[in-house]
Amino acid sequence: MPIANPFDDAMLHHLRDRLRGAVLAPGDDGYDAARTVWNDRLASRPAVVARCTGAADVMAAVDLARANDLRLSVKGGGHDYAGQSAGEGGLMIDLSPMDGVRIDPRSKTAQVQAGATWGAFDHEAQAFGLAAPGPTVSTVGVAGSTLGGGTGYLARKHGLALDHLIGADVVTAEGDLVHASEDDHPELFWGLRGGSGNFGVVTAFEFRLHEVGPEVLAGQIVHPLEAAREGLQFYRAFMADAPDDLQVYAFFVRVPPIPAFPEEYHGKTALDFVVAYAGDLAEGEEILHPIREFGDPMLDGVRPQSYIALQQTFDEGVPKGHRWYSRAHFFDRLSDGTIDTVIDHVDPLPGGFTMVYFEPMGGAIRRVDPTATAFPHREASYGFQVLSGWTDSGEDDEIMEWTRAFHEAMTPDASGGVYVNLLSADEEDRIRSAYGANYDRLAALKNRWDPENLFQMNHNVPPAA
Ligand SMILES: Cc1cc2nc3c(=O)[nH]c(=O)nc-3n(C[C@H](O)[C@H](O)[C@H](O)COP(=O)(O)OP(=O)(O)OC[C@H]3O[C@@H](n4cnc5c(N)ncnc54)[C@H](O)[C@@H]3O)c2cc1C
Repeated sequence: MPIANPFDDAMLHHLRDRLRGAVLAPGDDGYDAARTVWNDRLASRPAVVARCTGAADVMAAVDLARANDLRLSVKGGGHDYAGQSAGEGGLMIDLSPMDGVRIDPRSKTAQVQAGATWGAFDHEAQAFGLAAPGPTVSTVGVAGSTLGGGTGYLARKHGLALDHLIGADVVTAEGDLVHASEDDHPELFWGLRGGSGNFGVVTAFEFRLHEVGPEVLAGQIVHPLEAAREGLQFYRAFMADAPDDLQVYAFFVRVPPIPAFPEEYHGKTALDFVVAYAGDLAEGEEILHPIREFGDPMLDGVRPQSYIALQQTFDEGVPKGHRWYSRAHFFDRLSDGTIDTVIDHVDPLPGGFTMVYFEPMGGAIRRVDPTATAFPHREASYGFQVLSGWTDSGEDDEIMEWTRAFHEAMTPDASGGVYVNLLSADEEDRIRSAYGANYDRLAALKNRWDPENLFQMNHNVPPAA
């Protein structure tokens, strides 16, 4: 259970004396904006939000939390499905004022503060035609996604976000600032790459970058649900031979009521291939030919576009402030039975914002040994997520039950394990499988760096007994 001593006025004054950033209590201007996280279903009211401006502020906040056994939460981009970046009644470290990004185009590296979003990172890096692989929504925080993994359009080509870490500055449970890299505290560096927020507060990351774009060949190819079975069978064969430059997600979403889609399909579930080819554009046209020729899509929006535009495609479809619930799996293969189970469940999709998708893995993700970093799921062929989204709290029980039942139906064919960044708050029983074969090593590392489990508002690995 999280430690949770109450916050008192003396602590508030102490923090206000020591921090350069704002220290906000309920009722203060900016408190609500600072405490807000993406998943409104799990909105919490911390006693105090420390809007840190640098490592010194973070060290002071960690010292206070440790000395007083406060519930401590850490917000990078605030997009955790489990809503753990805001802890009820506790001290919340809000890193969003620390959103600086510095690119060194000569060494192709980036220094990224831990409150930056991928939108900010891509903006700076793409000015030099560079990028590190990151998630498919630009409002997601660099911190949480990288500490857990970081899959996206470039992951098959270049690997996960965490595979690009060169080093990180970390405020430890003792309130010290240490640097972790292959040379400095290498075991801590290993654990930061997949062990989530268990070992300290990262204040800055250093990434290796690749040349990307600035144009990629990307867009959506949308088919009516009637074509979904044949469509997924085609997709399975197509992705089996796909080059690493290509990523294609298979989404099930509701067709939006906009003129780009025939009216007869508005509001209905559709199969949406979300395509991104990050190599030579002319070669991409050839490679994408079969998937663009398949069936009779209601929309083919594939075109050269900027990598930044691609990264922002879904930003408006997953707005902050709705109610969200996630369930995820990995699959080694898409059997006909798996395909049938999906199709049996997606019509209709409940809530206005629900989506279901397969995400091909493989490529550069698989070329890293499962124990080389703390992210263990290197062998999986597909990620899978049911992400339910709605606005009316009266629908909570029904939609969450639908999500669980769908997930349960997919379980027999799944390969085991779950991506830690997709876990919900009520999945404590799956945490061990999220860290897989690396769990015991992470627990030993927790002993070394956080034996009192100060950092437990995360997918927690308690210290080894
Ligand atoms: C709309 C949406 C789209 C997504 N798409 C993808 C995707 O394409 N690929 C993918 O891999 N993931 C994706 N995710 C999942 C995402 O990687 C996780 O939700 C991730 O935790 C978000 O990071 P954050 O910094 O925004 O979140 P936060 O809520 O700020 O942080 C999550 C947790 O990480 C820890 N943490 C955060 N910052 C720090 C820090 N500086 N130091 C130590 N610990 C810290 C804390 O334990 C915190 O509770 C998506 C999530 C959403 C909501």
